[in-house]
Amino acid sequence: MHAGEGDRPIDWAAVRGDFPLLQRQVHGKPLVYFDSANTGQKPEAVIAATDDFYRQHNANVSRAVHALGAEATEAYESARGKLARFFNVRPDELVLCSGTTFAINLVAYSWALPRLQPGDAILLTRMEHHANIVPWQLVAQRTGAVLKVAELLPDGSLDLDGLHAAMTPEVKLLAVTHVSNVLGTINPVAAICREAARRGIVSVVDGSQAAPHMAVDIAAIGCDFYAFTGHKMVGPTGTGALWARRAHLEAMPPFLGGGEMIKEVRFDGTVFNDAPHKFEAGTPNIAGFVGLGAAVDYLDALGMPNIAARERELLAHATEELGKIDGLRIHGTARDKAAVISFAIDGTHSHDLATLLDLEGVAVRSGQHCAHPLLQWLGVGTTCRASLAFYNTHAEIEAFLVALRKVRNLLG
Ligand code: PLP
Repeated sequence: MHAGEGDRPIDWAAVRGDFPLLQRQVHGKPLVYFDSANTGQKPEAVIAATDDFYRQHNANVSRAVHALGAEATEAYESARGKLARFFNVRPDELVLCSGTTFAINLVAYSWALPRLQPGDAILLTRMEHHANIVPWQLVAQRTGAVLKVAELLPDGSLDLDGLHAAMTPEVKLLAVTHVSNVLGTINPVAAICREAARRGIVSVVDGSQAAPHMAVDIAAIGCDFYAFTGHKMVGPTGTGALWARRAHLEAMPPFLGGGEMIKEVRFDGTVFNDAPHKFEAGTPNIAGFVGLGAAVDYLDALGMPNIAARERELLAHATEELGKIDGLRIHGTARDKAAVISFAIDGTHSHDLATLLDLEGVAVRSGQHCAHPLLQWLGVGTTCRASLAFYNTHAEIEAFLVALRKVRNLLG
């Protein structure tokens, strides 16, 4: 569980100083990194933990009896334990994998593919990332199931009445994001999953954009599956996990076969390892998970409630000031919102904006953010997205605004 609940003065400028990359310049300007929804920057503690693993403990896990092998296994399993405490779940219900994309595909291929059939439906929402759309399309194609889509209200929040009405008897699975990577909308996933469970619908929550920004208590959400990715929560790339109820993990067949996921292999048959190991074939990203364990320690020391409060403050500041810029529109104005601001400026292209902002040292993302159906709904080809994290500062917001005004004037 998360330490640091409640108000505690934190020196946020010093926190920014924990991130070596944020000290560099880009195009001769101090870096303003506003692309944390894409990937988070890494604090010294995470870099040091990964470095130390390779310098002092590197070996494969669960295979060698020598000291290094034991140390590596201990370090890897300790990361699983830290993640379990962080998300308030059991370690043996956490499948460690490369990230959300893998985690959702694991549910698609191992839970959904053997179960769904013609006449069944998978319910999604308009605001899903492609990682929570395409795997379900692939499953639908192979099983004869169909996709249903719950739509949004004009402010970019989910139309909850519509979503609940769409939970009809043929719906077997609901896939919903906890936080939208384009609109910033925070969905009330506990209430949604409760409605789904009442109707016997299995729920999958994409927690990619929630885990880095708020205290996530998976047990309290009450979903069946929760996926997250380590690189957005200040951990290394190629790390993440799927949490699943133990009963699901036991009933699901392995997704990938190979070493680590077996107890005994004979040519006439194989006995699989117990979950979660039965889903962890091959050598995992051991150093990455050591780094992710350090990331969880780092976030926990700051306290997720403090991080969420800090980001709310940054979001309010940026939103208010952006609102003063003529011709600027923000896509996504839901009341419950994370620090993700997608915007457009009349008469300019988002790629031009992002390219010129980059020359001012400001990193924002321009594009479709792996959410084509949402962009289609917004009626725009692309957006500019400024996504903030707790390690950003009010001074960086001011620098961004100065740069944005300059760029807007340049673009006419
Ligand atoms: N879901 C959401 C909401 C995301 O923002 C992302 C990453 O951008 C993903 C899924 C995919 O995460 P990954 O690429 O780490 O698997």
